[in-house]
Amino acid sequence: MATSESATKYLLDESRIPRAWYNIAADLPAPLPPVLHPGTHQPVGPDDLAPLFPMSLIMQEVSTEREVEIPEPVREVYRLWRCTPLYRARRLEKSLDTPAKIYYKYEGVSPAGSHKPNTAVPQAFYNREAGIRRITTETGAGQWGTSLAFAGALFGIEVQIFMVRVSYNQKPYRRALMENYGARCTASPSEETQSGRAILAQRADHPGSLGIAISEAVELAAQRDDTKYALGSVLNHVLLHQTVVGLEAMEQMALSGDQPHVLIGCTGGGSNFAGLVLPFLGQQLRGEGPRYRIIAVEPAACPSLTRGKYAYDFGDTGHLTPLTKMHTLGSTFTPPGFHAGGLRYHGMAPLVSHLKELDLIEARAYHQNACFAAGVEFARAEGIVPAPEANHAVRATIDEALRCKEEGRSQTILFNLCGHGHFDMQAYIDYHAGKLADQNYDEGELAMALAGLPSVGA
Ligand SMILES: *Cc1c(COP(=O)(O)O)cnc(C)c1O
Repeated sequence: MATSESATKYLLDESRIPRAWYNIAADLPAPLPPVLHPGTHQPVGPDDLAPLFPMSLIMQEVSTEREVEIPEPVREVYRLWRCTPLYRARRLEKSLDTPAKIYYKYEGVSPAGSHKPNTAVPQAFYNREAGIRRITTETGAGQWGTSLAFAGALFGIEVQIFMVRVSYNQKPYRRALMENYGARCTASPSEETQSGRAILAQRADHPGSLGIAISEAVELAAQRDDTKYALGSVLNHVLLHQTVVGLEAMEQMALSGDQPHVLIGCTGGGSNFAGLVLPFLGQQLRGEGPRYRIIAVEPAACPSLTRGKYAYDFGDTGHLTPLTKMHTLGSTFTPPGFHAGGLRYHGMAPLVSHLKELDLIEARAYHQNACFAAGVEFARAEGIVPAPEANHAVRATIDEALRCKEEGRSQTILFNLCGHGHFDMQAYIDYHAGKLADQNYDEGELAMALAGLPSVGA
């Protein structure tokens, strides 16, 4: 165990893998708004969700217990890559010539190369415990599909993945990884579901979206008793599972002798961000820690937290899911074709949206070229090539470190380096070739998508 204050990385051995996930619902100053039934607009109960999820996960979704025990078989699988390292970015600090101290928690050491197995493994475990034989899901860039395919292989569960068509065509290696783990991967929209066929009838060359792929996966899961659905972000139980990241990071920061002032994560659906920050925020809410500055970073091309509306909306394009209150760009949102960096979901985790409304976190958006520039600068100093999503967090971290330099302050910054970019090198090739465009999400399209929000009485 590294305890030196001059160390480059802080490691915890397997015995330090957390024994319980941290549930912030126990410490929230105001409860989350209820999830509503899509037909009646009345709050849903556990039974309404039973066709899609095993009851153990539904109970976690609504739990207000502060600690949720991690089952031993899950901790056993976590041992394959956890605890993950916490690094001090000394070379980046030097190249920025900043008085700030920069730390990062590195989740790219998992078999899938990101934080996503932290929830894929427990989700596969609870489904198997419930006697489920098959899980359906969606994937965008392919990180989530890879993670669930890996977890399915370990627990002997079939995995059927709907992969957003444009990624399916652009990322054959991600698809190969999923198939290597034994999963079935289909381009979405597909002919295999009602939802997919309806979209293809309107536009035969539709590039797909996460919202459409979710509809396809949910539709299949609802049809068969032996099949459930799994989501890789957004939901409370997913954010709960990701808290292993922040719980370990707290212990590692203690080893370093520093306390973070600023916490940073990129946000697609909100899970890696929440995984890092919720344990720290919980400490703050209980009055046991300082007030942290917490920054969620998203792409200007898909700016749900910074430009979306905080309203009830569907989680999918086919309107099969319950309604949740979240920052949303509208469920018909199709991400612009020029955007390379992932983080393409139309909504945000209700929990992260709630924290934003309570002013407990900040949000900002960056254009993609600035993010790739930060990722390249990071790689040249620290060696690791970040996933394009993580580049958003790197950008904000560098900007905060430069602010410290301007103000002559030595603050400590901690960010989540949620994955490596080894399967995303085409995006880096495009960046180096000057082929990435910086555009805002179109105002007119945004207004149109928001006009389609379901009307839910206050
Ligand atoms: C999936 C993914 C994201 C976005 O999802 P969150 O739930 O916001 O974390 C970000 N980074 C990586 C590496 C991913 O795989």
